[in-house]
Amino acid sequence: MTTNHYDVIVIGAGISGLSAAKLLLESGLSPVVLEARDRVGGRTFTVRNKETNYVDLGGAYIGPTQNRILRLAKEFGVETYKVNEEENLVHHVKGKSYAFKGPFPPMWNPLALMDYNNLWRKMDEMGMEIPREAPWKAPHAEEWDQMTMKQLFDKLCWTCGARRFATLFVNVNVTSEPHEVSALWFLWYIKQCGGTMRIFSTSNGGQERKFVGGSGQISEHMARRLGDRVKLERAVYSIDQTGDGVVVKTLNQETYQAKYIIIATAPGLNLKMHFNPPLPPMRNQLIHRVPVGSVIKCMVYYKENFWRKKKVVVSEV
Ligand SMILES: Cc1cc2nc3c(=O)[nH]c(=O)nc-3n(C[C@H](O)[C@H](O)[C@H](O)COP(=O)(O)OP(=O)(O)OC[C@H]3O[C@@H](n4cnc5c(N)ncnc54)[C@H](O)[C@@H]3O)c2cc1C
Repeated sequence: MTTNHYDVIVIGAGISGLSAAKLLLESGLSPVVLEARDRVGGRTFTVRNKETNYVDLGGAYIGPTQNRILRLAKEFGVETYKVNEEENLVHHVKGKSYAFKGPFPPMWNPLALMDYNNLWRKMDEMGMEIPREAPWKAPHAEEWDQMTMKQLFDKLCWTCGARRFATLFVNVNVTSEPHEVSALWFLWYIKQCGGTMRIFSTSNGGQERKFVGGSGQISEHMARRLGDRVKLERAVYSIDQTGDGVVVKTLNQETYQAKYIIIATAPGLNLKMHFNPPLPPMRNQLIHRVPVGSVIKCMVYYKENFWRKKKVVVSEV
């Protein structure tokens, strides 16, 4: 077994871990990043091949307010481009395709439209009541936390159209079903992202831009700057803080020592790590009870952009 001494051990070479290590290095400290996989980037993953040139299989879209990653991109000379919103978008429902413009598909039924508008307005209003730093201090925190988004939609929506789109809204934003998520948590999440319009919009919203060459480049640039401080195929399984500092062990039989540790993984993955002393009960509960969502991202390439030929039709739902 070899032992390696650093100021800070960072677990995970996704954007969070790498940017933490980069900042530490720039501050004159000595970090090391331990990554389980054979690549950096984590939940961002740009695949390059001759068919697509490059394609982002993980996180790809960025928009206003995502200032930190935009700053990193600028620093490394990674450019962004605006997602094309000049032409129509297509909403496919009940076996039919409807072309439309703007963030949400329009509807002809005035009742459904009112229902729809009321839903977004109400969700944003509820979000305003939730303190960013302490959502549990919201006046209705307990009531909303006992309610799922499905229950909230059942209360708020009168039409099937609004309910169906509300379900899609949860699916897309947190890769879960409305019955799986607490209303308090979801409303707080949407608030953090600037509200219902901003999270769902292209222009001036979360889907405004993509990176020319793919989002994976951000992590690749940071890893290059960190050099051999980034150690791949080092899955951490043990974190011991019983002594002065922290001792970390990896599956390939290496030991790392440091004064501090930063864990930059999804919380659920900490279940595979042995902590000594054990994690505090609240943190332990958290990692057991906060699953990540589940999603498969499919990229489809068409020979012809047929949807541009379609005229804008108002949805019948
Ligand atoms: C399909 C998909 C689409 C998305 N789309 C967008 C989008 O368009 N816009 C947007 O802003 N966000 C998007 N996201 C979310 C975004 O990609 C993530 O929020 C972000 O990449 C998370 O970065 P992170 O560094 O915090 O975590 P991660 O990227 O998960 O990095 C954690 C790293 O820790 C490593 N690790 C885990 N356990 C261990 C261990 N025991 N030892 C060592 N290493 C370990 C993992 O291998 C991983 O590399 C998307 C995510 C997915 C999956």
